[in-house]
Amino acid sequence: MHIHEFQEMMHSLYFKRDSERGVNGTYNWLVDEIAELGEELKKGEDREATEKEFADVIAWLASLANIIGIDHEKAAINKYNYKCLKCQQTPCKCTF
Ligand SMILES: [Zn+2]
Repeated sequence: MHIHEFQEMMHSLYFKRDSERGVNGTYNWLVDEIAELGEELKKGEDREATEKEFADVIAWLASLANIIGIDHEKAAINKYNYKCLKCQQTPCKCTF
């Protein structure tokens, strides 16, 4: 499945509800889900729970993109097209 297909699936499932909640409410949910992912990563003890938090983050990100009409896959590929933004290499050769 491509990012675009995942985003369309989320559109089919939740677009009406997401639209009614709006940008700010959906963004706040995304931030909460990122915080939950961070908590799971800190605990580092339950891989299945961590996977579910990853799923929640991409789901809420897709919902947010749907509300404002961003094609997430197109945006991601346009910016990160198989090369580092700074050094233009694959893999990145930048020094830390
Ligand atoms: Zn680089």
